[in-house]
Amino acid sequence: MVMSFQFPAYFTAIFIITRVMSIMKISKPLDVHHKDIRAVDLATKLSVDPSAIESASRDFGGIVKAEPEAVLHPSAPQDIAALIKFSYSSSVPFGIAAKGHGHSARGQAMAENGVVVDMRSMANNRRNGTGIRVSIDRLYADVGGEQLWIDVLNATLEYGLAPVSWTDYLYLTVGGTLSNAGISGQTFRYGPQISNVLEMDVITGKADFLTCSPRMNSELFYAVLGGLGQFGIITRARIPLQPAPKGVKWVRLLYDDFSSFTKDQELLISKNGRKDKSALDYLEGSLLMDQGSPDNWRSSFFPHKDHPKIISLITKHGIIYCLEIVKHYDDRTKHTVDKEMKQVLQGLNYMPGFMFGKDVGYEEFLNRVRSGELKLKSQGLWDVPHPWLNLFIPKSQISDFNNGVFRGIVLERNITAGPVLVYPMNRQKWDDRMSAVIPDEEIFYTVGFLHSSGFDTWEAFEDQNKDIMRFCNKTGILVKQYLPHYSTKEEWVHHFGSKWKVFQHRKYQFDPRMLLSPGQRIFNNN
Ligand code: FAD
Repeated sequence: MVMSFQFPAYFTAIFIITRVMSIMKISKPLDVHHKDIRAVDLATKLSVDPSAIESASRDFGGIVKAEPEAVLHPSAPQDIAALIKFSYSSSVPFGIAAKGHGHSARGQAMAENGVVVDMRSMANNRRNGTGIRVSIDRLYADVGGEQLWIDVLNATLEYGLAPVSWTDYLYLTVGGTLSNAGISGQTFRYGPQISNVLEMDVITGKADFLTCSPRMNSELFYAVLGGLGQFGIITRARIPLQPAPKGVKWVRLLYDDFSSFTKDQELLISKNGRKDKSALDYLEGSLLMDQGSPDNWRSSFFPHKDHPKIISLITKHGIIYCLEIVKHYDDRTKHTVDKEMKQVLQGLNYMPGFMFGKDVGYEEFLNRVRSGELKLKSQGLWDVPHPWLNLFIPKSQISDFNNGVFRGIVLERNITAGPVLVYPMNRQKWDDRMSAVIPDEEIFYTVGFLHSSGFDTWEAFEDQNKDIMRFCNKTGILVKQYLPHYSTKEEWVHHFGSKWKVFQHRKYQFDPRMLLSPGQRIFNNN
């Protein structure tokens, strides 16, 4: 919005900011006599509109609700800096949460009685924001923290380039996934998305607007990556690019035996050099359980004619393990990729007759979850509660986890509704200086219970989640939550383990008034 300072706009602005200030119990009145231009400009971008408040009070999880006093619709990073400065220098500071696409499941992007910054507003303001700028010569893209990964993909594909590390679903913002880690089937080889950032622009909790990288303001750089929004708001990230492949060979293999399944997964991820042409480009895994169909909302992969034989396998074994792998190809390799895939499959111990393959375009593969989302939306099923639980489990304990959780708690309760992912990654592809927390072992698994529940039934899934965490604690499985959510300080201290002191120190350094991302409930949980 262009600020013209005509009379009516000026008074509206004063009205909104004064109201927000009074609601927030900020005692110092706005100095209207001095016509504080920055505050007025800020006020025009603050909304107390009930629909804006309502939307900022909800997230994808549909479980937590927390109302902010106002929503900021920034058109440039300077608006965010002005808001933070306003709170930082106030005698009664208020919490500020960047909201990317609100795809958190536990209120992490909310700010009760504070201000939510609707980052997506900046995507509509290309003139002032960072947008997406591709450097073909230097093989990177400068992207705004508010950008969706799908838009990053489309913009870079125009130049035949693409980032290397993804999430399964692309309608997430760059700032949102970099605040967590950003994991998918590429992580074993390229590391999470946080391992694929060259530099960032960040506005700290002291309203300092800094560029950071491994060489410049490095403490801030490492703090912010995986930092759960605690240290600053990312307004730009520089993402490295590679030539984009044309298409992918996409294979799923079924196992009735967990040990063979994980052995094969671990064998396959042991080839993980970035430049190793024989390495796979993607590896994941999931459980197939009795949910009516071997497909789920995130993927319809198996040919219809094979559904009966897969279903009877599931009925027989209770759980079938599905290994999923991909190899990219381009014009140069399209004639050899089948042979290479055949070599990969040799020696694997999947069930004979249970190998399924597809050949799809690269973008179609990366954007594979979208069609499921649209289908659910058309049925009104996208906005149901999502009591998700995402975990990292050391390799040495994944078999205990299978016996006690998959074959124990999960089969007994028999309520699973949605995908359950399980796949390994390599610790060496992560950077321990970053804030993200992972197990100590060289290989660890991610397990994601991605439930969709009814509006009245989410508590049953929460009970199951708690049971799973209790089981891990009781049996000494050194589990770490991904996309963590805790409500007490003790739990957070335990979660961060040896990283807690550094995390806390960085908080005092970059956000000493504890303004940012209060919805994570790390420093403001009482
Ligand atoms: P939000 O939910 O809006 O914000 C998340 C946190 O980041 C909040 O604390 C917020 O304050 C903070 N934040 C947001 N923007 C910024 C910024 N610019 N600077 C600093 N802090 C910021 N994750 C994976 O890793 N891999 C997956 O494959 C994957 N698949 C998913 C599929 C679906 C359908 C959904 C709903 C989620 C999935 N996720 C996955 C989880 C997802 O990465 C996180 O929930 C992520 O935070 C969502 O991004 P967002 O833009 O919606 O962030």
